[in-house]
Amino acid sequence: MRVAVIGAGYVGLVSGACFAEMGHEVVCLDKDPARVASLLGGRVPIYEPGLDEMVRANVQVGRLSFSTDLAPAVRDAEVVLIAVGTPARHSDGRADLSYVYGAAREIAEAVAGYTVIVTKSTVPVGTGDAIERIIRRHRPEARVAVVSNPEFLREGAAIGDFMEPDRVVVGTEDSRARAVMAELYRPLAERGAPVLMTGRRTSELIKYTANAFLAMKITFINEIADLCESVHADIADVADGVGLDSRIGARFLQAGPGYGGSCFPKDTLALLRTAQDYGVSLRLVEDTVSVNDARKRAMARKVIEALGGSVEGLTVAVLGLTFKPDTDDMREAPSLSLIDALQRGGARIHAHDPAGMEQARQHLEDVAFFADPYRCAAGADAVVLMTEWQALCSLDLALLREAMAGVVFVDLRNAYPEEQLLRHGFFVSGIGSAPKR
Ligand code: NAD
Repeated sequence: MRVAVIGAGYVGLVSGACFAEMGHEVVCLDKDPARVASLLGGRVPIYEPGLDEMVRANVQVGRLSFSTDLAPAVRDAEVVLIAVGTPARHSDGRADLSYVYGAAREIAEAVAGYTVIVTKSTVPVGTGDAIERIIRRHRPEARVAVVSNPEFLREGAAIGDFMEPDRVVVGTEDSRARAVMAELYRPLAERGAPVLMTGRRTSELIKYTANAFLAMKITFINEIADLCESVHADIADVADGVGLDSRIGARFLQAGPGYGGSCFPKDTLALLRTAQDYGVSLRLVEDTVSVNDARKRAMARKVIEALGGSVEGLTVAVLGLTFKPDTDDMREAPSLSLIDALQRGGARIHAHDPAGMEQARQHLEDVAFFADPYRCAAGADAVVLMTEWQALCSLDLALLREAMAGVVFVDLRNAYPEEQLLRHGFFVSGIGSAPKR
């Protein structure tokens, strides 16, 4: 099938490359000329394991191309995917749909012949209706169907998630569009991926419900970790003992510094705004958002307490900046609020991340960046392990300790066995256990 993907970001680029890999003919479009130039020059502008190779292979066989010129690609496409950003609006936390509506207007200008327009972006209930209205207003004669097809991939594991999804959700009331979508996903369905066909509004809500539930699960185990700290229980064992229950499941039960990233914070907020619009109260989601916000702030206090109550004039080395490993995405990373709070307390910040430093520089000021974690720790009074990159979870602790001026190790991912850190002479502050030396 001929597919046009609008927005060549994390979702658009991964979806485009994966659909090409499945045998479709894909054009990825982006309005950012630098992004498209980079792709045309053979450089994938985001860090996502396996994506470079997949893009290169599909460009080589002519199934994947890139352009800033939306009109010809949309005109020729049977399926047009909208994969532009839907960030939270600063004013009220609602999803900013201006990119989605902008893309819808551009599609309306260009569309020719029967075309299925697919919203891959995460959008509030009713957005499909609004996109349809925009297209009908601009081009009353256009033969289009607007379908919701939310994306569930995780950054850092995006290709595996896309090619072997737990499920594909397709929302439309239009039977012809349903057949087109079944054909688009046939290669995955043939390999056993469940395809759930449902109504458009239901499909839109599924995405938010999934993200709110996952955010709630993380927040729940984080609260239990706080209780572990007080009652001297072991959070890792609690999570294991609970997660082995198949009704609960072990994933998303790792206690840590609070969730961040480009999806959970904005999607929980947007879901709350939708609920408010309809006069429904979602108290569990409200509490999830406020508990998580408080937790992010509490992480800085943990570091300050480990350093004796003040960080004024002290140096803190933050290892890992991205909101999770294996991505360069810095959106809403918990490291940002941690660093901000420590700087306000008067600390000097050293920072290292295996892939996120380029993006981190755009979010942080007065931070010394280091390409090497040991150089980053050199002279530091405390090290904070913020993101559980594999490379940062297997450091030579003797070398690290030797490089530092102080002995404080704040392990916000419980990445190292406590005894191992204690053996190397660290003062250890982790998640879900009282600080120890
Ligand atoms: P992103 O910011 O990485 O990419 C969006 C891209 O769209 C940008 O490159 C931008 O230049 C481009 N764009 C915006 N308007 C355009 C237009 N009119 N024409 C052409 N290009 C345009 O965003 P993302 O992280 O890929 O997220 C996209 C959507 O997918 C969001 O709604 C997000 O919530 C959802 N989502 C993201 C993830 C994730 O892990 N990142 C997972 C599932 C769903």
